[in-house]
Formats: sequence, C-alpha cells, structure tokens
Amino acid sequence: MSAVLLSGPPAAQALLTEAGERAARLPRRPELHVIRLGEDPASVSYVSLKERKALEVGLGSTVHALPETTTQPELLALIERLNLDSAVSGLLVQLPLPAHIEVGTVLEAISPEKDVDGFHPVNVGRLWTGEAALPPCTPAGVVALLDYYRVPIAGRCAVIVGRSTIVGKPLAALLLARDATVTIAHSRTPDLAAVTRQAELLVVAVGQAHLITPEMVRPGAAVVDVGVNRVGLSKSGKAKLAGDVHPDVAEVAAALTPVPGGVGPMTVAQLIMNTVLAAERLQAGERVTELVSATAPR
Ligand code: NAP
Repeated sequence: MSAVLLSGPPAAQALLTEAGERAARLPRRPELHVIRLGEDPASVSYVSLKERKALEVGLGSTVHALPETTTQPELLALIERLNLDSAVSGLLVQLPLPAHIEVGTVLEAISPEKDVDGFHPVNVGRLWTGEAALPPCTPAGVVALLDYYRVPIAGRCAVIVGRSTIVGKPLAALLLARDATVTIAHSRTPDLAAVTRQAELLVVAVGQAHLITPEMVRPGAAVVDVGVNRVGLSKSGKAKLAGDVHPDVAEVAAALTPVPGGVGPMTVAQLIMNTVLAAERLQAGERVTELVSATAPR
C-alpha cells in the first residue's frame, strides 16, 4: 500500500479563503495584534508569517515589537490596553518569552474572548465542556486538515502520542467532541507499539525524529505527523526537517501527512480563522449590547 499524502498547503488555503470570506461579511475588519519581545530569529519569522497571512485574507495586523528588557508590568499594561480596545479582535503574545516574564501570568492576562492562541485557562475549560472556545491552533488545524481530506473521525479509534497542553491534550478534547474513541499515549506508556497499532487514526506530537515505524502502525490507518525535528543541514545550508513518523509508514498507512508541508501550514491558517471567530463573536456581542441599551427604559 502507498499512503495518500495529506498535503497541508491546499487545506490551509481553503481555511484561509473561508476566513477571508467570513471576515468580509463582518461590519468591521477583524484586527490581529501580536506582541513580540526581543529579536529571536524564529519568533521574528513566525510573527511575520502570521502578519503576512492575516493581510493576505484582508484582516488588519499589528505587531508590537518590544525590547527583550520589557518588564512584566509593562507587558501586562499593554495587554490590558489591547483587551479594552474594541478595535482589537485577536491578541497573542509570541512564545517563548524571556526568563524574567512569567508565561502563565501573561497568558491569563489576555482576554479569553481575544485569546486566538487558545491558551487561556477559560478557553481550555470551554474546550472540554463543549462551550464555544477559541481552540489552540495546531490541534484545531489537524482537525481541519482531516476534514478537508474527508478522513472520518466519528466512531474511529484515535490514538494521540504526546500529551502536551498545546497539542496532545486539546486534540483529545477536539476528537472526543467529534465522537472518536480517544487514547493518549506518552513517554511512560509501557508498550507504545501495542497502543499505536490499535489506531485507525494516529496523531503523533512528540518531537523525536522517526519514532513511529511501520510495524507500529495498523494497516490502513490515517496518520498525522505533527512533529518537526531538525536533523542536520541540507547542501544549501538550510535546516533539514523530519517528522516523528518514519517515511516508510507510507507503505502501511492509507493516508499520511508529510513533514514539512503537512500540519505546519494549518497552524497559521487556524490562527487567522480564530481571529475571525473572535471578531464574529465580539461584534455579535456589540450588536446585542446596542439592542439592549436601545430597548432599556430611559
Ligand atoms: P512537548 O511539549 O515536548 O511534548 C512532547 C510529548 O511527547 C510529551 O507528552 C511526552 O511525554 C511525549 N513523548 C516524549 N517522548 C516520547 C516517547 N518516546 N514515546 C511516547 N511519547 C513521548 O512537545 P509539543 O510542544 O507537543 O510538540 C511536539 C512536536 O510537535 C514537536 O516536534 C514540535 O516541534 C511539533 N509541533 C509542531 C507544530 C506545527 O505547527 N507543525 C506545532 C506545535 C508543535 P511526557 O508527557 O510523558 O513527557
């Protein structure tokens, strides 16, 4: 068997197009604000990609590039100002942050209604209770990728390898909400292969190149590889990337995401969709408030 490749770019483009169309139907243009501290090259490059994609689909985008020496109170004051600014629909602080800043405090300071990374505890809770949450971008992007390629989720035995708060755990909530039977494996799972072989849908988010080999995969499974591992340099000096899944898994699986070019493009596309979702809810809330105040006794 040779697996169908679940390529990320067309699925990401479809999500971006939908985000752009929904944004165009709103009374006001959704605005994404990103706060970045310092000049870490990877962060600079991620933030400029987010800005480019936002602008491409007609959203507004503002990057607040602050010095690495910015104090926590200064950062919190900016977040508070943007929380209160009704023109701001989506707000995120690019991670990692310098050591003198407490990440948890910063993430909790962002208004849950504008938290387009989906990291605020209120959104984490809403995800598990089934209320309207802003979901974390990578796991929501995985679900969007599966939907784009019509990979069935409901009723399937899904195994997620990795239990991080940004990928594995929220993905479990999303797949459960879509009626999969979900198992999460991790570094203390005694016989990983015995668990992964059960999976009709296998998602791997570990960070170890080629951890999952063909004999660990059930024939005919759909396999999503979230892992991004640097495994040396190409001749042109660019970083060579490998997933957590060995490429030979394509001989066993029915469908497989490539690395690079699989889940990666979905994450930023979902961020743009989250910004539109946040704008839709905020602007609907404003209309309700206007109606209530218009009908209130004077
Ligand atoms: P993380 O926070 O380091 O978590 C890794 C998880 O893998 C942990 O739950 C860990 O188990 C588990 N694990 C480690 N070794 C294992 C093993 N030998 N067998 C089974 N489980 C094992 O990583 P993350 O942030 O979720 O990221 C995972 C990967 O996805 C990384 O390669 C990252 O670069 C990539 N990623 C890609 C995107 C994207 O947009 N494409 C976005 C986010 C992450 P314990 O909990 O027991 O330690």
